[in-house]
Amino acid sequence: MSQGKSILQAQNVSVEFKAQGGRVLKAVTNVNLELHRGEVLGLVGESGSGKTTLGRALIRLADLSNGTVHFDGSDISTLRRNDLRAFRRRVQIVFQDPYGSLNPRMNVGAILEEAITLTDSKEAVDARTVELLDLVGLPTESRSRFPHEFSGGQRQRICIARALAVRPEVIIADEPVAALDVSIQAQIVNLLQDLQRDLKLTMLFIAHDLAVVRHISDRIAVMYLGRIMEVGPANQIVFSPAHPYTQALLSAIPVPDPTVKPNRQILEGELPSPIDPPSGCVFRTRCPLADAACAKQIPLLEARSDGRMVACLKA
Ligand code: ADP
Ligand code: MG
Repeated sequence: MSQGKSILQAQNVSVEFKAQGGRVLKAVTNVNLELHRGEVLGLVGESGSGKTTLGRALIRLADLSNGTVHFDGSDISTLRRNDLRAFRRRVQIVFQDPYGSLNPRMNVGAILEEAITLTDSKEAVDARTVELLDLVGLPTESRSRFPHEFSGGQRQRICIARALAVRPEVIIADEPVAALDVSIQAQIVNLLQDLQRDLKLTMLFIAHDLAVVRHISDRIAVMYLGRIMEVGPANQIVFSPAHPYTQALLSAIPVPDPTVKPNRQILEGELPSPIDPPSGCVFRTRCPLADAACAKQIPLLEARSDGRMVACLKA
């Protein structure tokens, strides 16, 4: 898979929310991450680790408390009017809940027309509607039907068609299959993979489950309690994870071959509160390798000789 130069960069990005009692909830802390043109970057981590907030920060839907996000050379916080409108077209998001993001009173044709006319002329709507429905594997007749008449998987196809309608360069897919039946999930992941390749899209694919992103991703970033713990080529992350958190996420994936003894390293306890995160390494309270040093020092995300980056004092 071809990977070009960086199109979207997050530098030292932090996002904080005000929590009860005037306390600060650190949803994303000091994240450095970049999307390369034409790649699929998987972003994984347990629920509550800050993936959605980071995804929203990348498209200016969440305010940064620190850091910058650049898209195609421009700081997105400085975009005004036409540039902002163009940015919002070039980077599209696909959400977890396809029903919640579709207007139930509009039929599919109207939903797509609304998006198509942002970039194309009125005259182009008919042909483009047929083309988009075909791209996502829905029959042309779908245009006269309403969201509630479709299954969950079909509704996600409609959301994908709507995102593609404006001819985006980047897709941020935030848990696009998490709300679907397990039997349907692979179909939608495969569809996204085909579209990414055929339309040369750049994609950030967010999931809480490493099993969902392992096949589609060129690179994988692993997030825990607002921080990136490890990032690197998908093969390295999946076949030789370095960070103990990545190892734990991987061992939670069931092994299909019963003769292979799973080397289980179960994550114990709950994700700590981002209002009161552990000192030092935020993972240390659940880490099998942690010692006294890990409580004192925040590990930096450092490059290893094999091309990945890892934030751990012990691994
Ligand atoms: P993930 O997508 O990995 O499940 P989120 O980004 O949704 O994680 O959430 C990260 C943390 O930020 C969670 O503790 C969540 O409760 C908190 N959070 C997210 N959005 C808000 C908000 N708008 N206001 C307050 N807290 C929020
Ligand atoms: Mg989320």
